[in-house]
Amino acid sequence: MFIGHFGIGLGVKALDQRISLGTLFLAAQFVDLLWPSLLLLGVETVEIEPGITKLTPLNFVSYPISHSLLMTIVWGLLFGLTYWQLRKNLKGALILGLCVLTHWFLDFVVHRPDLPLHPGESLMVGLGLWNSVAGTLVVEGLLFVIGILVYLRVTKAKNRAGVLGFWGLIAFLTVITISNFVGPPPPSATAVAWVSQAQWILIIWAYWIDMNRQTRVANGTLN
Ligand SMILES: [Zn+2]
Repeated sequence: MFIGHFGIGLGVKALDQRISLGTLFLAAQFVDLLWPSLLLLGVETVEIEPGITKLTPLNFVSYPISHSLLMTIVWGLLFGLTYWQLRKNLKGALILGLCVLTHWFLDFVVHRPDLPLHPGESLMVGLGLWNSVAGTLVVEGLLFVIGILVYLRVTKAKNRAGVLGFWGLIAFLTVITISNFVGPPPPSATAVAWVSQAQWILIIWAYWIDMNRQTRVANGTLN
């Protein structure tokens, strides 16, 4: 799953407006941000296998450190604890920890049964929605659109950068998603890893957007 995770990041802004969109994206995509470094270090493995699902040619051969259920829980705990230490915002820390965890459950819906429950010999799970073009579009598209609507409901732009930066990001994510689904398969696993590393730019972009927008919540009520 790709834009669905970003949809979660956008939508969760409604639960605690003190959390920057950059931090929300970092949490929702945390395990996918670890994954390319683990690929480049040779700890995890991906192969290109066109046709393995209707929507992605990636065969996730091994990724227990980034994508097992157990390790995703560990990453969520570490993420929440770190945020709590830095910001002393317990509610935000809980929200962010759970946000990290949503990644695994959303991946569980779209992936083939390739998600391990824990590192080592483990049952592999996944509902395989990536084999249905319509199903994937509905689920990922709905999460993304609802996330956008919620984020726009709880924040407003302070300036032009807050408008253009936001819509630029939405357009960029949409184009990446379409090209992932309809474009040619990537040339190599190394190319997949480096393109995935580029997602860090989206995190920085989201922090910048959030600085140029403000919350609509005044005195606890939306105005
Ligand atoms: Zn993932």
